[in-house]
Amino acid sequence: HPPLLSVNDLTVSFGNGPGAIRAVEDVSLQVRPGDIQAIVGESGCGKSTLAYSMLDVIPPPGRITAGRVEVLGRNLASMNRSQLNHVRAAEVSIVFQAAMNSFNPVTTVGRQVEDLLEAHEGVFESVAAGRAYFEELLGMVRLPTQRIWRAYEHQLSGGMKQRVAIAIALLLHPSLLILDEPTTALDVLNQRLVLDVLRNLHSALDLSIVFVTHDLAVVAELADRVAVMYAGRLVETGTVDEIFTDPRRHPYVSALISAIPSVLAGGLDVRPIPGQVPNLAELPRGCRFAPRCPLAMPLCRETEPPLVADRSGHTVACHVANENLLEGTPR
Ligand code: SF4
Ligand code: MG
Repeated sequence: HPPLLSVNDLTVSFGNGPGAIRAVEDVSLQVRPGDIQAIVGESGCGKSTLAYSMLDVIPPPGRITAGRVEVLGRNLASMNRSQLNHVRAAEVSIVFQAAMNSFNPVTTVGRQVEDLLEAHEGVFESVAAGRAYFEELLGMVRLPTQRIWRAYEHQLSGGMKQRVAIAIALLLHPSLLILDEPTTALDVLNQRLVLDVLRNLHSALDLSIVFVTHDLAVVAELADRVAVMYAGRLVETGTVDEIFTDPRRHPYVSALISAIPSVLAGGLDVRPIPGQVPNLAELPRGCRFAPRCPLAMPLCRETEPPLVADRSGHTVACHVANENLLEGTPR
């Protein structure tokens, strides 16, 4: 089986020449059928840009300057407009952050669904069949069919809009759904509901999911695989289990874990990460996390640490974390 989606040595740049910044640098990631892949990190680490690059919808002036994205083995960059439109609607679909922005405020949800069905004639036998499937999807995202069909954007709450956006994104049977911060703008009850809905869609529709979040608690609830980004690069990838329990861990991931409110400590034992994500135009030499890292040593300020995989494929980019692994590995 080829992976559903594969990102290979991808770099996304904003601007040209010496002033250009690389929002994503040399990232490789594979999404297999059935995966729920999280992309996690603080804001400004390139997570959304990486997610947008998966459908080549990076907001200008951002553009892919190295590497490639393949959907089922086909390079996005080599597709014509109509092939790309087909992939974007019917193979990989995206729900942007604050999904509300993607609605047209002057038409009803139903009218927008009909427009989509007309633009992609042939996916369903008829507009009526497509409409029936959309109603089924509304049930799956736990929204009342009749009311939503006739609703305008301003008549829906934030939580409802997010679920309508998910239902619309699934209309043409994509096998992969990408979501940017799907729970961020929502209150706790709506966050729970969206996570629950996504878990159910994953199993009911055989849907693969990639989602971007800054919140490791959401990762623990939903993901089975995790990619952690820092300042444009991957610093750790693995299963949820590896990320949370393997002692070989990137210090940034340890810091993110310490920043999760602990229920045991009554929500009080939260340690925010000191310092800030570096400005991408003024990256430190060596490891990008060094200015904030409690374990930094002189080598860290000289040489950027490579991502090193163990036998199971859990990767970490840290000189200290990989010390034992590299010593134990014949080179
Ligand atoms: Fe910290 Fe050094 Fe590891 Fe970077 S390479 S995370 S500075 S210990
Ligand atoms: Mg973002």
